[in-house]
Amino acid sequence: LPPAPPEPWEREARAAALNGAPAAVEVRDLHKRYGEHVVLNGLDMTVTTGEVVALLGPSGSGKSTLLRGINHLEDVESGAVLIGGRRIGYTDDGRPLSPTKVAGARAQAGVGMVFQHFNLFSHLTARENVAGPLRWVHGMPAARAESRADELLEQVGLAHRADALPRHLSGGQQQRVAIARALAPNPRVLLLDEPTSALDPELIHEVLEVIRGLAREDGLTMLIATHQLRFAQEVADRVVFMSDGSVTEEGPAEEILTRPKHPATARFLRIMG
Ligand code: ADP
Ligand code: MG
Repeated sequence: LPPAPPEPWEREARAAALNGAPAAVEVRDLHKRYGEHVVLNGLDMTVTTGEVVALLGPSGSGKSTLLRGINHLEDVESGAVLIGGRRIGYTDDGRPLSPTKVAGARAQAGVGMVFQHFNLFSHLTARENVAGPLRWVHGMPAARAESRADELLEQVGLAHRADALPRHLSGGQQQRVAIARALAPNPRVLLLDEPTSALDPELIHEVLEVIRGLAREDGLTMLIATHQLRFAQEVADRVVFMSDGSVTEEGPAEEILTRPKHPATARFLRIMG
């Protein structure tokens, strides 16, 4: 695609960023399809700095595609994502960055991500899973990266398992390592894609407990796709409900979950509840 000149809203977002008041995440008119199948259909969403947003919606509604799109792990057809007023994956004048530069840009934008299936490096210990990216992506010296990893593992209650390989950890422990890894570079925005959906029921609690702690931290912006409605109500400042690739309803958790207005939300809550 030829480089598009900045749209007026893009200039506004950049100006806002310079004034120190950017939205943490700004999604504008995002479109994505796989073949004929439209997955994101003009999706708009804003997450303000420090906000904790729960992303709800039926399976297949496009939650993972949206989160991957926000983190530039997925190419989209049209529309834009701004993180702190800037587009990951593009130069300031709108040219796409080369793939080798995207990881650095993502790191610089301050976005971290936690996946449903943990995605740990299977041949690396818990400590190395956290320290590795700090070295490879952020260029941190090994000794510092490892002590930072130990701090983070302590924070998620896994200091005693730092030398374990993922296959020797429970699912809940693996997900806590993944959270530590995502937090290690001090992200401003943390994206969590159904972080407890792959866990046995008895292991969900320990992961939600860690996320609850993060949600209480000032300044960390979180966007969490989840089917845990009670948890969403408890931690989220706002709930965004997706259906068929766009946002059908959003508002305070209390309101959306108890008095949904859109039939798709009501149906989903009936099935989940
Ligand atoms: P959710 O996370 O809400 O369950 P997804 O974003 O994973 O939804 O998927 C949205 C739709 O896109 C689904 O119908 C899914 O089958 C389809 N989809 C997701 N990834 C791919 C892919 N790589 N290729 C083809 N279709 C995909
Ligand atoms: Mg998903």
